[in-house]
Amino acid sequence: MSQVRPVKNVCVYCGASSGVDPHYTQAAQAFGYLLAERGMRLIYGGGRLGLMGTIADAVLARGGEVIGVIPEALREKEMAHQGLTELHIVADMHERKAMMAAKADVFVALPGGLGTLEELFEMLTWLQLGLHQKPIGVLNVGHFYDGLQAFLQHIHGQGFVRAHDAQLLKMSDDGAQLLQLLEAQ
Ligand code: AMP
Repeated sequence: MSQVRPVKNVCVYCGASSGVDPHYTQAAQAFGYLLAERGMRLIYGGGRLGLMGTIADAVLARGGEVIGVIPEALREKEMAHQGLTELHIVADMHERKAMMAAKADVFVALPGGLGTLEELFEMLTWLQLGLHQKPIGVLNVGHFYDGLQAFLQHIHGQGFVRAHDAQLLKMSDDGAQLLQLLEAQ
């Protein structure tokens, strides 16, 4: 019998930029609306810029809860969001990631840059090592993550990742379907 994991806290990693295609902003907004409609709480990096700000504003606009976690040194650079349900100011990046991870039931990456990938891969490697059992997915907006999927298959084919671990990352271009995949993990 398949089990459904209760998901309340969704940790989202995404760009502190918006990217060149307005589709990314639309997708971040739609995913934020979806989280709020489902009564899910957004855990994120606490900034107001880029897709990070877009998704936080979307959740708040639909009456949802948002918890931000931002390092002291990035408060100004990433423009800490002042309208969140909770904003935690932490000492550094490590503390930020640890707090976000501890609060999350599942992790989702939207399009983003190096920071997004770093955070995504830390959680993925920790899952591979059995340090946590929380599902991880990416919202594949406009095929943004197709190359990553192909690269994961490549490193599996080259013998650096087991088949099981190469499939740990769940992927969909549809937010509701992605949440369903994560809840089924
Ligand atoms: P980016 O995807 O590069 O736009 O970054 C998205 C978010 O990841 C931003 O809030 C960055 O501050 C954050 N970030 C970048 N590098 C790290 C890191 N090593 N640890 C934690 N957060 C990071």
